[in-house]
This record gives sequence, C-alpha cells and structure tokens, in this order.
Amino acid sequence: MFVKKNISLKSYNTFGIDARAQFLLEIENDEQLSEAYQSSQFRALPKLVLGGGSNILFTKNQRKAILKINIRGIEVLDQKDHEVRVKVGAGEAWHQFVLWCLDHDFGGVENLSLIPGTVGAAPIQNIGAYGVELKDVFESLEAYEIKSGKIRSFNKEQCQFDYRHSFFKGRGKDQFVITSVTFMLTTRPIFNVSYGGIQQMIDEKELELNIRNISESVIHIRQTKLPDPIKIGNAGSFFKNPIIEKPLYDALSLIYEDLPHYPVDLGSIKIPAAWLIEQCGWKGKRMDQIGVHERQPLVLVNYGEGKGKEILKLSEQIQASIQKKFGIELAREVNVF
Ligand code: FAD
Ligand code: NAP
Repeated sequence: MFVKKNISLKSYNTFGIDARAQFLLEIENDEQLSEAYQSSQFRALPKLVLGGGSNILFTKNQRKAILKINIRGIEVLDQKDHEVRVKVGAGEAWHQFVLWCLDHDFGGVENLSLIPGTVGAAPIQNIGAYGVELKDVFESLEAYEIKSGKIRSFNKEQCQFDYRHSFFKGRGKDQFVITSVTFMLTTRPIFNVSYGGIQQMIDEKELELNIRNISESVIHIRQTKLPDPIKIGNAGSFFKNPIIEKPLYDALSLIYEDLPHYPVDLGSIKIPAAWLIEQCGWKGKRMDQIGVHERQPLVLVNYGEGKGKEILKLSEQIQASIQKKFGIELAREVNVF
C-alpha cells in the first residue's frame, strides 16, 4: 500500500480546496483495504474514504487518514439473452465506465454520461441525471464492513436507494467501504430522451436514436451548462432539489405563477433548487475567491484560492434566504468534512 504523508488535498477534490492530510493511503485492492483498518500503524486513526472528491467540501485540514479508493477492473460476469451483468471495481472512473459500456453496446448508463467521480461512490447518493438513476441499472454491490473486517454483499433492496440517497448515506453511514458494484445492463435499451433537451438535440441534429448519440447529447448539454471543475472548482449541485408537500406548493404557486415544479408521487412536488436560489438574487454572485455560478446557481464555485469554510458559510446564507422567502428547507447534497 502506497502511503503519502502530510500532503495537500487540492488535486484530490474538484472544489480544489487546499486542505492538508497527515496520511493518504492509496488502496488498490481488498487486501490493502483490510490492512488499512487492521494494521497496528493505522488501526487507531479515524478514516475518510475518498473517491474522485467530486462530492466533497473540505473545510479544514484532515486529521483522518484518507483512504483513496483505486480498486480497478471491469468484468462481464454473464450475458443471458439481452441482459448483461458487469462487475466494476470501486476505483474505476464513472465516465470511463460509461464509455466502456458504449464501446460494448451495453445500454443503461448513457444518460449518466460525464458525471465525475468513481463507480464506488455512485451508489452512495444514487447518482442521477436526465431521468435516469444508478438504481435503474444496479444489481448488487460488495462492501468492506469496517466493524467485522468482512466483505458483505448488498442487493438493491438492502441499499435503500432514494432521491440522491441510499442506506450508505443514512443508517449505514461510515460503516462500509464499497469495493465493487455489479450492474445489469442491456443490449436492447429503452431510450430515455424525455428530459433536459436531449430529444431536441437529437431532432435538431437529425441523429439516429441510439445510446452513443444520447451520450453525446448529454455530454454536449452538460458542457454548455456546467462549469468544468478543471477550470473552476466546484462539486456539481451543492443542494438537492427540495421535495415539498402539496399544500405548501399550492400556497406558493398563488404568489409565484411561474414556479417550476415536477410531481414526484402522490402529494409531493419537486421544485428546482436553482430557481429558488436565483429568485433570492444569488445567481452569479461573487465574493472574492468564491461564488454562485453564473449559468447554474445550484453550483457553488471556487475561483482558485477559496476556502472550504467560506463556501460552507455562503451555502448557509443561501439556505437561510430560501427558508425566509419560501419556507423551504434546502438540504445539502455535498459531503462536508
Ligand atoms: P467523493 O466525492 O470522493 O465521495 C463522496 C462521498 O462518498 C463521501 O462521503 C465519501 O466518503 C463517500 N465514498 C466515496 N467512495 C466511497 C466508497 N468506495 N465506499 C464508501 N464511501 C465512499 N452527481 C449526480 O448524482 N448527478 C450528476 O449529474 C452530477 N453531476 C456533477 C457534475 C459536476 C461538475 C460535479 C463536480 C459533480 C457532479 N455530481 C453529480 C456529484 C458527484 O460527481 C457524484 O456524487 C459522484 O458519485 C461522487 O463520486 P466521487 O468518487 O467523487 O465521490
Ligand atoms: P434542468 O434540466 O435545468 O432541470 C432543473 C431541475 O428540474 C433538475 O435538477 C431536475 O431534477 C428537474 N427536472 C427537469 N426536468 C424534469 C423532468 N422532466 N422530470 C422531473 N424532474 C425534472 O437541470 P440541470 O441543472 O441542467 O441538470 C440536468 C440533469 O443533470 C438533472 O437530472 C440534474 O439532477 C443532473 N445534474 C446533477 C448534478 C449534481 O451534482 N447532482 C450536477 C449537474 C447536473 P433532478 O435533479 O431530480 O433530475
């Protein structure tokens, strides 16, 4: 196991926050993971599991040992009729896995193109975009149980997937390290183009409807709307889209006739957090080294030398203003350490 000592985490998080860590352990396989938790050298240290650092905000230097998960490998387990089971190491980059699926004509993840981060972190918040969520292609996962030191298997039900949520963000938080994820993909995909301008792009460019063209459309839309973390530090959406009860929606829609909304299930309505943030005047606001993105106000940004604490404070000011104006609580999506 490769151990780095007293290093900057700037290149290990997409916000580009320059926090420091005493130890960063590069974990290449299950044995090294077990060693990190069992060996006398590291047993006593608290740990922080890190994938691509694209859903993390560091607000201080880290006393915890950082376990950087690099477990690799993509393996086709079996193919029956049009269904394919594929097992992927937790440290594989998510988007590289999507590209691998396109190369093999395996459908299911094309709408999730260009999401940063690792495969192992994807189940943590049940990543989602353009009408598809990880749970739609999920079969099972394996995770190292910290308490017992054993590898445990989880099926879909046990993962308790929900909107940007799972067992691993809830009751299972800090108890498991995901080591691999098994996906159920298909050679006969049902295309999902109902969302966020994909169909429009397919029509405008007169593209054939296939997984490759859907992926390319999603990539194009994302590149025009979202800041590239390589150029401007960010962790994607800082907040989840709130889901509110019908009576509150009814009251708000009398005041705000243009209130965008998406029914989720009976009696619950999703409101785009970006709209709420814009209504409170935050869109494009810059405070020295940090700010709210000018095109997508759901994304908080670090222009270079911003501090995690400053971004956290800004996020709390945004939450307070939305609570005051709309009576809606914005929940954080990004994990703060
Ligand atoms: P990290 O940020 O490293 O970790 C996130 C959390 O998971 C932490 O709590 C960490 O401790 C834990 N963790 C990481 N790996 C493991 C593991 N193997 N086992 C146990 N715990 C683990 N998200 C979406 O859902 N949809 C989007 O469309 C989307 N778009 C984005 C666009 C941009 C530009 C950016 C910067 C982010 C976006 N995100 C999106 C958020 C982010 O990419 C995802 O949440 C991603 O899954 C995080 O992966 P990661 O490897 O970077 O996780
Ligand atoms: P958008 O298309 O401008 O829509 C704004 C919000 O409204 C979205 O977040 C989406 O919620 C919701 N929405 C839009 N069309 C919908 C529909 N047909 N049915 C139900 N809900 C609908 O969103 P965007 O900001 O450009 O993002 C596009 C997609 O990428 C979204 O799915 C978004 O979640 C995802 N994304 C996520 C992150 C992240 O960090 N989590 C970052 C960038 C983009 P949902 O979020 O529930 O889809």
